[in-house]
Amino acid sequence: MGLLIKNVTIVTMDEDMDIIDEGYIYIMEDKIQYIGKGEFSGAEESYDIIDGKGYCAIPGLINGHTHAAMTLLRGYGEGLPLMRWLNEKIWPMESKFREEHISVGAKLACLEMLRTGTTTFNDMYFFQDEVLKVAEEFNVRAVLGLPIIGEGWQEQLKAALRLNSNIRGKVSNSKIVKTMLAPHSPYTLSYDALKEIGACANDENMGIHIHVSETQDELEIIKEKYNKTSCELLYEAGIFDNRVVAAHCVHLTDGDMDILKAKEVSTVYNPQSNMKLASGVPRIVELLGKGINVCFGTDGTSSNNNLNMFEEMETGSLLQKLWYKDPTKLDGKTVLSMATAKGAKALNYENLGVLKEGYLADIVLLNLNKYSFTPLHDIYSNIVFSANGSEVETVIVNGKVVMEKGEFKELDEEKILHDCNKLCQRLI
Ligand SMILES: [Zn+2]
Repeated sequence: MGLLIKNVTIVTMDEDMDIIDEGYIYIMEDKIQYIGKGEFSGAEESYDIIDGKGYCAIPGLINGHTHAAMTLLRGYGEGLPLMRWLNEKIWPMESKFREEHISVGAKLACLEMLRTGTTTFNDMYFFQDEVLKVAEEFNVRAVLGLPIIGEGWQEQLKAALRLNSNIRGKVSNSKIVKTMLAPHSPYTLSYDALKEIGACANDENMGIHIHVSETQDELEIIKEKYNKTSCELLYEAGIFDNRVVAAHCVHLTDGDMDILKAKEVSTVYNPQSNMKLASGVPRIVELLGKGINVCFGTDGTSSNNNLNMFEEMETGSLLQKLWYKDPTKLDGKTVLSMATAKGAKALNYENLGVLKEGYLADIVLLNLNKYSFTPLHDIYSNIVFSANGSEVETVIVNGKVVMEKGEFKELDEEKILHDCNKLCQRLI
């Protein structure tokens, strides 16, 4: 049965950046079948109706880089310098994680993402079979990457390929989940490992999700070992001969940018994590200026400390304005396209991130009857600089209504929060 959203303001994010006042969106199965202005009269069969009066529809937000189940470590080991934080707090705790932790952590993450308008996330974390189950049950679009890191890379690569064939094949045949290979970073893998992973992604036609040039320390390690930058190394190892999503890219030379451009690598801007870990400021304006695709990510909750893309969009823009000492940089329209259409491009979806006929029906309705949308001089500005995610009331993913008027249709939010607290008490 179809679903009609009527009387709604539509922020399409298409090539022309059309905004349709008092429009309609008609969804059939997982796709937008019709979209337009005024009254809808195109469907023959019966359909459900959502009255969108007083709401605006935007494409579901796309989180281009996260570690979803790290929600369990929200606020844990706060305030330490990066290496002490990892060595003394995060890594020892992660080594205790088993399937049940990942399951509960991913559930908490999915709730938080849906509630703040994120409908797709690009994940890099352990026990992805659990995240797969959660993403399907909660109906959140996900790109899953099992991290390949350190000495055990060969076994991990095999596991990643198994996960991929399970998802593509008979076991799951998932409509909303896919995988990428996720080599952790250039400094946690040997050159041979990077080379093999690059070749393997090519053979299997898989994308690659990797941390690149996140910190000054990383650059020094790579320089010492190879006398190259991280981008030069990944280029040489053949990683960039694939569709690559490079998280962070904080410390890039102009030559690195040329490599990213030539190899059509997408980069992910994680402003809050970069600020919180004092990693540095990536030169986003220059990346965009060169025509490189840049999307947004939150990174893991432990370095953010949430999965709210509205915060990410605002912080990301403010940081660039300050960095370049120029208030015209990274305006609302550009920022929202990075969190929607450019995110879809980075994750290699051809028909996502834009509200357009034939595109996947991942749609978020924001309540305009809020302080953040009053008055409404420039809707992009209201969305990026005023809204905080509490305006998200209805969320549709893959054509299915997951949340309506602020209520989850099937998910027991209270129980998940309770389970999470209980599990964390035992963990610590
Ligand atoms: Zn990360």
